[in-house]
Amino acid sequence: MTTLTADRTFSEELDAIGLRDIASRSVTASESDVTRALTRGAGERDLEDLAALLSPAAGARLEEIAQAAHRLTVRRFGKTVHMYAPIYLSNECLTTCTYCGFAKDLEIVRRTLTVAEAVREAEALTAHGFRHLLLLTGEHQKITGVDYLEQALRALSRVVPQLSIEVQVWSEDEYRRLVAAGCDGVVIYQETYDRAAYRDYHVAGRKRDYDWRLEGPERAGRAGIRRLGVGALLGLHDPWREEVIATAAHARFLTHRFWRSEVTVSVPRIRPSASGYVPRADVSDRELAQTICALRLFLPDAGIVMSSREAAGFRDALVPLGVTHTSAGSHTEPGGYTEPDAAEGQFEVNDTRTPRQVAAALSGIGYDVVWKDWDGVLRA
Ligand code: SF4
Repeated sequence: MTTLTADRTFSEELDAIGLRDIASRSVTASESDVTRALTRGAGERDLEDLAALLSPAAGARLEEIAQAAHRLTVRRFGKTVHMYAPIYLSNECLTTCTYCGFAKDLEIVRRTLTVAEAVREAEALTAHGFRHLLLLTGEHQKITGVDYLEQALRALSRVVPQLSIEVQVWSEDEYRRLVAAGCDGVVIYQETYDRAAYRDYHVAGRKRDYDWRLEGPERAGRAGIRRLGVGALLGLHDPWREEVIATAAHARFLTHRFWRSEVTVSVPRIRPSASGYVPRADVSDRELAQTICALRLFLPDAGIVMSSREAAGFRDALVPLGVTHTSAGSHTEPGGYTEPDAAEGQFEVNDTRTPRQVAAALSGIGYDVVWKDWDGVLRA
């Protein structure tokens, strides 16, 4: 059993966890390990329990695990799903991540939205009901630096009450500037928690610095960000279960350290993109469903995010197992809601339903859609 030490960074914590060892138990766990993990109470499970719940032995008891995850999700969240939409503000990027369709050297149509164009995109989304937008950019220090983000956030906060960002990582002071401009959520996927794989994929640009990125959510939390999202891109590293365990450990660390913030996790699978990247590890639908259940049982209060990377029917089926946040009608190209196909997208979206269709499908299985659960006025 691993315990968190108050003054450690997560980078230090991760080194102390013994990730390889724990991950190996996610392959070798026995029937009795799974039973022990299942019988423990919410909030009592440790990383070894998580490993057992991710194991093939637990996979053979998926129905039982799914029911436990469903009961816990309904107890903590009710039958609700929070809806958000991504706005890609720019696909300019000075970094080369070899799996990404925006990587620096790819010959794609590049575009950065002006603030007025971003507002038009936001208005198109609010007309569909969205009240929470996630702003995304590539990593370009000048074109989409803090000044640009501040301007965009200030303008957009007049249109939508909840604004999150998924952009390059910043210092604590820079996050404070973004909070003051209206940002209340930060999403930072580590992509892969494996240091060697991270070095292989991030061949140029500021993102090469593993620890600077890993500690980004802590800087954002200290700066007063209210929603912190972490995740790993499943497929980049084999064994993929190691990534899930690291993501869960990261989320639990942030939950303890920043108890006022809402913490979310995401385990997206790689989708086809202009990069032509072929994943190193395949995660089947059944394994992803088991992963969602295991995450829910390990992290009873964390939001679990499922984007439109996944197919429509599969996404709907995952909601009762623990998914609490979802996007809909997403475009991954800058300007895609008002001028579709005017620039290249980051990856291919799988679920192409409109927001209303997604909301209707959720309502059909007895879930209420939450378009807004926060207002900046509550911060006062
Ligand atoms: S993942 Fe981000 S930083 Fe890396 S190439 Fe894509 S947009 Fe650039």
